[in-house]
Amino acid sequence: MTRKFNFSAGPAALPEEVLLQAQAELLDWHDKGLSIMEMSHRSAEYVGVAAQAEQDLRDLMGIPGNYKVLFLQGGATAQFGMVPMNLLRGAESADYINTGVWSKKAIKEAQRYGKVNVVASTEANSFTSAPTQSELQLDPNAAYLHYTTNETIGGVEFDYIPDSSDVPLVADMSSDILSAPIDVSRFGLIYAGAQKNIGPAGLTVVIVRDDLVGQVLPGTPSMYDYKVHADADSMNNTPPTFGWYLAGLVFQWLKRQGGVEAMAELNRRKAAKLYAAIDGSDFYANPVAINNRSIMNVPFTLADAALDKRFLELADAEGLLNLKGHRSVGGMRASIYNAVPEAAVDALIDFMQRFEKEQA
Ligand code: PMP
Repeated sequence: MTRKFNFSAGPAALPEEVLLQAQAELLDWHDKGLSIMEMSHRSAEYVGVAAQAEQDLRDLMGIPGNYKVLFLQGGATAQFGMVPMNLLRGAESADYINTGVWSKKAIKEAQRYGKVNVVASTEANSFTSAPTQSELQLDPNAAYLHYTTNETIGGVEFDYIPDSSDVPLVADMSSDILSAPIDVSRFGLIYAGAQKNIGPAGLTVVIVRDDLVGQVLPGTPSMYDYKVHADADSMNNTPPTFGWYLAGLVFQWLKRQGGVEAMAELNRRKAAKLYAAIDGSDFYANPVAINNRSIMNVPFTLADAALDKRFLELADAEGLLNLKGHRSVGGMRASIYNAVPEAAVDALIDFMQRFEKEQA
């Protein structure tokens, strides 16, 4: 078996330790004679696994007691609709910040349910920065303010938490949740698809403040009502049991690494090295404003796009996988989530430098 370095944007690399543990437990979970996948979600064993995962996530993120943690399905994309369905609460409109592909999708979906005010957009600079606080044209009567903390495709990350005053702040943290400590109490709602920093695809985590739950739009299917899920401890129906279990193993792994504080230090070091390698060469380039450069997704272009194919072929042959950039921006993208080791970044930098020399 050779595990290669995986720079995929998602589904993304998982910690090897976690995969080995899942493998060891796969056929016979804790001497019960069956796998976790084959167990009722209502069994005492499974309910224990689910509750432990929630507690570990609460510990890791410092989630206050007046927030519900929900383990749902439908991806972050379902949240693009569930957020307005649950949080508009009779208000005329909601505020959205537009920093790229994922914000745009959230905006488009919200427009099906109410009026959306785009309070700032960086489209004019091709989404290569995030707006500053003073650029936000906030409406004090908005139902909520939505933003994407990290644009996975553009590699643009907010370097501050917007101040929305009394308006609940809603964040799509799909690609940077658990990458660094955050103050959850600043948010009304946080959501994230699991397949980057949490676990396998098929699970979505929602963290929502109690007072925002229970005022869903009339006619909303019960599966899209946060209250239904909150009241049932995310077991209104059969939850994605394997994904939830695996997320729990990832949370325990994160705790063993020293928690999100330790991950943040490592993530910053990994990103700093890679950006330094890009900036230190005339051959590679990253267009994002320095203070908004993502520590999770690092897009970069080569001096000549005609070389992209060869770069990817050679990288692949060396065991550096999934470096192709998103089709909308081209070039390369290295996603360096929590589970991507520093050695992967070192190997990538070494490869990039050799590739550049080969072109000279
Ligand atoms: N938001 C962000 C920031 C993302 O990166 C993604 C997926 N790449 C999504 C939303 C959509 O997630 P899903 O595919 O889980 O619906």
